[in-house]
Amino acid sequence: MTDFDYDLFVIGAGSGGVRASRVAASHGARVAVAEEFRVGGTCVIRGCVPKKLLVYASHFAHELQDTANYGWTIGDAQFDWARLRDFVASDVDRLERAYTSTLDNNKVEHFHERATITGPHTVRLAGGREISAKYILVAVGAWPVLPEIDGVEHCITSNEVFHLPELPKRMVIQGAGYIALEFAGVFNALGVQVTVVNRSDKILRTYDHSLTERLLPILQARGIEFGFNRTIRKVEKQADGSLLVHAGEGEPIAADVVLVATGRRPKTDGLGLGSAGVALGANGEIPVDEYGKTSCDSIYAVGDVTDRVQLTPVAIREGHAFADTVFGGTPRSTAYDAIPSAVFTQPPIAAVGLTEAEARERHGELKVFTSDFRPMMNMFASKAERGFYKLVVDGATDRVLGVHLLGPDAAEVLQGAAIAVKAGLTKAQFDATVALHPSMAEELVLMR
Ligand code: NDP
Repeated sequence: MTDFDYDLFVIGAGSGGVRASRVAASHGARVAVAEEFRVGGTCVIRGCVPKKLLVYASHFAHELQDTANYGWTIGDAQFDWARLRDFVASDVDRLERAYTSTLDNNKVEHFHERATITGPHTVRLAGGREISAKYILVAVGAWPVLPEIDGVEHCITSNEVFHLPELPKRMVIQGAGYIALEFAGVFNALGVQVTVVNRSDKILRTYDHSLTERLLPILQARGIEFGFNRTIRKVEKQADGSLLVHAGEGEPIAADVVLVATGRRPKTDGLGLGSAGVALGANGEIPVDEYGKTSCDSIYAVGDVTDRVQLTPVAIREGHAFADTVFGGTPRSTAYDAIPSAVFTQPPIAAVGLTEAEARERHGELKVFTSDFRPMMNMFASKAERGFYKLVVDGATDRVLGVHLLGPDAAEVLQGAAIAVKAGLTKAQFDATVALHPSMAEELVLMR
């Protein structure tokens, strides 16, 4: 492998790229990675991690309201956005340093500049340096899609939302997917008047409808306004600096911040993929085989840029499998069945496996079990919100095909259940498991 400057050149130091770099280096490869922004990628810098910290922060708003029956008297509680924002930013800095140390500790050279591909084995850094590598891994992720809006320059995306100079009074959010609803929950809890507008009349379209239909009225009862079948056409800046949002046919909505969360597109523009004959899909994604290989034998791709499942743990697995395959002598691919996911709405939704609708299409007879319960914590806090769990079971084999949870800590409850679904366990095996009492998770083994 000595004819090349490196055995592997990775473009993008996000979750997939860092994992692939580290593992390839541990297999003895000489590895370099280029990152034009910050080491850590979307998840660490402007996604999962800072988002989850904001979600935790906003939980206090609800918990403070619930304290009285638990014997607490809390004085005049104050919230300071700037303090939270800066603490979150410093934690992101800490994680970026940790990711950078991982690269250093594994002797992965890193360049803090943009790299573009100039051929099957060559890249050019923004500073002009040409580098050759036996293999190139594209792990550049995805980027928020900005729909056509007159005045789109007045809108922000999830990239900017972590850096708001002050807490807005009113926020309009376009979209009703993961990002839209997670931030709707955060800012609603922090006291912002939030209006969500969506082009359809559905929220979280890919989740089981019986959960999303229950989640919607809970979010509305918490004070989030929804405008369905509405798409933002125009955003006008007013003389006082506020914004006027024209969405669909309805009345214009006054806002201080407009957040657009209408999906994320693979970030392949201008990457030079054509120079190496790498084919692209209709959404700008890089199609790959089961090992991550593109249409060019020396170029691989992992993570969001392949537009398969846009989730961090999936990108990490793909990066690891690529490194084991190409440098570890053990070809491995990633399995895409039974991937658990959660939306950190308030309350959250979490799911693994098939929705009831998907299972009806793929399997014959189904058995569906549900539990509609009032979590103990809500009972004591005199809060009406209910939880809802659903098991989708194959009628022929008794195998649990899907687990769908709505309720406090749904993501924490789901991970264990995801092991059971991945292992192909049956409903009888769920039933044979003794309940852990008192908990919400015990509903999983008590549905009859
Ligand atoms: P989603 O695909 O979840 O949601 C996109 C939303 O925007 C939908 O409501 C969709 O409407 C709407 N939409 C799409 N295109 C347009 C358009 N042109 N004009 C108006 N509305 C439009 O995307 P997100 O941006 O919320 O998130 C991107 C991805 O990031 C997710 O798919 C997920 O994989 C990942 N993510 C995961 C998180 C987690 O694991 N907790 C958190 C955040 C992001 P419709 O329903 O009609 O299609």
